[in-house]
Amino acid sequence: MPLRIGAFLLLLITLGLSWLLGGWAGYRQVEQESLEESFRYRQLVANELNRYLPIPELMAEHPLMERALLNPGDPQVILQANEEMQRMATIVGSSDVYLMDTSGLTIAANNYLQEDSFVGSNYSFRPYFSEAMARGDSVIYFALGLMSGVRGLYFSHPIRSDRGKILGVIAVKVLVHELESQWHRPASLSEAEMVVLDGSGVSFLASRPAWLYRDFTVSRQGELPLETRQRYPDRELRPMQIEQLGLPWGLSERSAKIRIQSPEGGQDYLTVQTPLPRLDWTLQVMVSTAPVLWTRLAFVVGGIAIYLGILLAWLYLRERYRREAELALRGEQLERRVAERTRDLERSNQQLLEEISERERAQSELRETQQELIQAAKLAVLGQMSAGLNHEMNQPLTAIQTYARNSRRFLEKGAEDMVDANLAEIITLCDKMAELTRQFKVFARKSEGPPSGVDLRSSVDAALKIIKAQKHTSGIDIRWNRPEQPVMCHGDLIRIEQVMVNLLANAVQAVEEREAPVVTIEVEPDNGQWRCTVRDNGYGLPGNTEQIFEPFFTTKSVKQGLGLGLSISRQIVDALGGTLTGRNRPDGPGAEFVLTLQKREATE
Ligand code: ADP
Repeated sequence: MPLRIGAFLLLLITLGLSWLLGGWAGYRQVEQESLEESFRYRQLVANELNRYLPIPELMAEHPLMERALLNPGDPQVILQANEEMQRMATIVGSSDVYLMDTSGLTIAANNYLQEDSFVGSNYSFRPYFSEAMARGDSVIYFALGLMSGVRGLYFSHPIRSDRGKILGVIAVKVLVHELESQWHRPASLSEAEMVVLDGSGVSFLASRPAWLYRDFTVSRQGELPLETRQRYPDRELRPMQIEQLGLPWGLSERSAKIRIQSPEGGQDYLTVQTPLPRLDWTLQVMVSTAPVLWTRLAFVVGGIAIYLGILLAWLYLRERYRREAELALRGEQLERRVAERTRDLERSNQQLLEEISERERAQSELRETQQELIQAAKLAVLGQMSAGLNHEMNQPLTAIQTYARNSRRFLEKGAEDMVDANLAEIITLCDKMAELTRQFKVFARKSEGPPSGVDLRSSVDAALKIIKAQKHTSGIDIRWNRPEQPVMCHGDLIRIEQVMVNLLANAVQAVEEREAPVVTIEVEPDNGQWRCTVRDNGYGLPGNTEQIFEPFFTTKSVKQGLGLGLSISRQIVDALGGTLTGRNRPDGPGAEFVLTLQKREATE
């Protein structure tokens, strides 16, 4: 609300100021026009006067004038004078030229031939005659023609004899309407009016006919002087209805504001009075103040436009600042929220990192546990095999013992060649045992390093050596269709060997009781993979074939198995990106296990 009141007050102030300034500018402009007009007409009148002023003086010099004045009775001379004056009037372009003797009687005139000729008239009462006689110098006078009643400017000069005596006066009359016609207002100043006032304030030249022969004195005290009334015989010389108004702000003292009442109503003018040179005349230029109103209105409109412009700019800036402030606030809030959110995120990130490291720790623990489990399972297999292994180790040991005893006996007999043969047998047996124990040592070793390219055949070979080391495998027909070319696959030699040992050990256990027990191992390529099948003709798998891969699932006695072999084997194969599946053979009794591993192109 205060904003609206403020805007309204500002508007009022703007309107008031515009009005005042408009008035000031308008009056200044009107005054300027008045001054310019005054100057122009003053120059115009001065030029006219200067043009005619020297003419009577020049004419007075003419010897004919003196002659005519000295011989007024000589018709010859008078005629010459008349003709000369006619000629002069034509040359100068004046209305009349005439010659008066010292009594004021006109003795010669340019219009001597006309009915209303001046010749014979006495003008001694006319100031242009009496003053010229009295002062002996040029005189300018304005009056209405006695005969014609036409306004005229009279220029006169005394005529002197050789000895300087004044013999008469020559007068030149110029019609002022010529002058007046030049007054007529220029198009740009349609509102400007002019009057020329004589010494008593009566107008004898006016731009408006109604203002001619009017008394322009604002407040006249008493009657007009007689001389003035004589100057304008038969004229009423009515006073103008002029009211003096206050001088508007910003105008010089030369101007005045007046109101002229007329039958059409009052009109305000700005008036400037200028005295004319050589005469007691005053030029009064009056310019209507009506345009001031238009200037004021233009200023008011301009003021309103500026006011609106400023108001709009202010509103715009205010809105802009408001928006900027709002944006800044929002930005701050956003930043705060972002900071909060960042803190939250950092916190949760930290938590996540902790969780990840926790998980990694757990995973590595799990991995270690798995490794240990795998190792344990492996050792368990070894443990299970140890009975069979005993036999395998005892047999060569017994043989070595026998060969050694025999060698001793042969040594006593001196049969050295036999001793040598026995020692060779002992060495062979020792090599065999060493190879067997090496296999077990390798098998018992923990695997190291990441998976790489390995030859599947080697794993199968090593596994077979371990399996065959057992006593009860001797009667089993183990068929290993070993490929000629390396079977390179993605894996780990010891891990694959462990899987193969598990599969073969299970197969051997399954066929133990069979007549003609057979275990087959085959390797064949299968769509970017190697496929290794272990088949037996044993008692086959129990009903749910997937169950056998579960940990601790076993159908065997505690001595024979823990139920971990297949579950660990599957874990190993999964980790290598392969598969391990088992099923009963479709083509007869027994089970069939299929191990697939990714092919590896590069041989390492
Ligand atoms: P374990 O051999 O110690 O019992 P495994 O995980 O190796 O543990 O085997 C789980 C079970 O799967 C065995 O108890 C057996 O019942 C069955 N099984 C595994 N291989 C064969 C096979 N070749 N023929 C028949 N049954 C088998």
